[in-house]
Amino acid sequence: MKRAATSNSEPRPAVLSEDACPTCGTAMQAMTTELPFVVNGEKVVVPEVSHLACPSCGEVVLRYDESKTLQERAVEMYRHSHALLSADEIRALRQRLHLTQAQLAALLQLGPNTVSRWEAGRNAQNGAMDVLLKIVRDVPGTLDYLKMHAA
Ligand SMILES: [Zn+2]
Repeated sequence: MKRAATSNSEPRPAVLSEDACPTCGTAMQAMTTELPFVVNGEKVVVPEVSHLACPSCGEVVLRYDESKTLQERAVEMYRHSHALLSADEIRALRQRLHLTQAQLAALLQLGPNTVSRWEAGRNAQNGAMDVLLKIVRDVPGTLDYLKMHAA
């Protein structure tokens, strides 16, 4: 949208109604369509996502819960398509090793909240990290090795 700074330009409404398009002000409509979401640099197309769409300019707006759901479904689809461990499988292997989320993150030299985000389904581990998790899970002695060498 262009806004001319001239005196004859339409004043922008001070308050938009709750369902007004943030770009053009048209009333938005509830829709259910596929939407893209990028996980680890890869575009995942998630089917049947509820959201608001502007019939005039095409702007798409997701409410908080819809946005959270879109992200979680995209992460799950990404994990499935790359045969990565699921959030539950990561939690189960961590608990079997008697580690907190922060402890496992530190052993893998990751940020302190990374494992927490994996287990919550908000982010997905990449392929290399998935291999490492499976080694930690399946190869005896790996945890001791990591503990000896963790920073
Ligand atoms: Zn619009």
